[in-house]
Amino acid sequence: MAKKTDSCSFCGRGRAATNLLIDGQTGFICDECAEQAHNIVKELQASKNKGSFSFTQNDLPKPDAIKTFVDQYVIGQDDAKRYLAVSIYNHYKRLLQKVTDDDVEIEKSNVIMVGATGTGKTLLAKTIAKLLHVPFTIVDATVLTEAGYVGEDIESLLTRLLQAADYDVPAAERGIVFIDEIDKIARKGDNPSITRDVSGEGVQQGLLKLLEGTVVNVPPQGGRKHPDQKMIPVNTKNILFICGGAFDGIEKKIAQRLNTRVVGYAASSVSNSVDKTNILKYITPTDLKSFGLIPEIIGRLPILTYLNPLDRVTLRSILTDPKNSIIKQYVKLFEMDKIALSFDEDVYEFIVDKALEFKLGARGLRSIVEAIMMDAMFSMPSLDETVLHVTLQYASAQFAKSDVARL
Ligand code: ADP
Repeated sequence: MAKKTDSCSFCGRGRAATNLLIDGQTGFICDECAEQAHNIVKELQASKNKGSFSFTQNDLPKPDAIKTFVDQYVIGQDDAKRYLAVSIYNHYKRLLQKVTDDDVEIEKSNVIMVGATGTGKTLLAKTIAKLLHVPFTIVDATVLTEAGYVGEDIESLLTRLLQAADYDVPAAERGIVFIDEIDKIARKGDNPSITRDVSGEGVQQGLLKLLEGTVVNVPPQGGRKHPDQKMIPVNTKNILFICGGAFDGIEKKIAQRLNTRVVGYAASSVSNSVDKTNILKYITPTDLKSFGLIPEIIGRLPILTYLNPLDRVTLRSILTDPKNSIIKQYVKLFEMDKIALSFDEDVYEFIVDKALEFKLGARGLRSIVEAIMMDAMFSMPSLDETVLHVTLQYASAQFAKSDVARL
């Protein structure tokens, strides 16, 4: 065995010239060389993984497994969950498809989800992102405008996806983009107007190209602030688009359509079977068109699904049942101060009542709990108490003096 000297076997620096010299069997390595070696290994691994999709048909998450996972976080909305699970599963299968002689090429099925604000559209998308093995990003359609106008160009959707994929272009090219508030780019009014509709139809036309599949030159830094950046070409053919929107007022259009259809001999049987509490479930592509989406866009979003309004039972369940429910989050916050937090059952009912009364939906649950807990969160960390049990009396008194109660 060669005799060891007290110096790095890689750069030759002596012990005194290094911060740390690690002793090996036949030599030494200094801190700097160890770090360099680590970076070389990391880069090599990254370049090996680039563009690879390491799945086989067998280990793909099946639709029911995707739904079971989402069930832990999102209450109800079974139809939307099933549609989404199937479309994600099919997306994976498309990515695995091999070019065969039979000329059958599976085309992608982009999704559109319609549901009132606060019913869980974004939550569904975010939850699915947790389990995906492809890059995923959520973007807001409201910021998009036609090129040349104030706002963001349509390509910025892909900038976000590229960033989510760590600039690995082949990975981004099979990613998933969730476009929120798609209803905000609906055409304003049925007649083409003399003033330009820069955030409506123009944006839809731009979006259409992305949905169809095209090669887009994407600014890697996004926006128009870096005019000199080198564009990266990204092919959108295999990118799955999931759109969501509240489509405020679309129920009226659906109801109108259902009514016009019920004129005639079958009228009574049809109108009796309509569930008036949830008109959205009868939505068809025609309704999206009368809302102001152009037919070409609708054609590129073949999977249309809806979210149910949140009723009392669902709101009550949202409060405590999901894996990271609002109540579980507050219990954890208090636990960190070594305080055991608990609630009487009727406090939960009170919170749900208030959310319904103020028409705040699921988003309101958090503001109401916050209002009830504010005083305790302020004062308890500096007290010696280790228990806080919230009764209905305490909750209603705290709520009454909060800002939310004055809404
Ligand atoms: P949307 O995108 O439909 O406007 P979000 O998904 O942002 O609504 O929902 C707002 C909040 O309400 C979520 O962060 C979540 O806490 C709660 N929420 C809404 N719907 C559900 C649901 N079905 N299950 C669990 N939590 C929900």
